[in-house]
Amino acid sequence: MSTTCDLCGTVEDDPQRLLAWTVSFERGRRQDLCVTCARRHLRALEGKLDSEHW
Ligand SMILES: [Zn+2]
Repeated sequence: MSTTCDLCGTVEDDPQRLLAWTVSFERGRRQDLCVTCARRHLRALEGKLDSEHW
């Protein structure tokens, strides 16, 4: 079973590496994020605390 990153489309099928992936829920929709995108996403979330601009 493989998982696709919802942001960049990277496909990972190694369960060990998938442990590092992040699952995020945006407006009730599940998003699987690879390590790179999870980091970027977290930074965006932190930025959203300061500004509502998305
Ligand atoms: Zn990604």
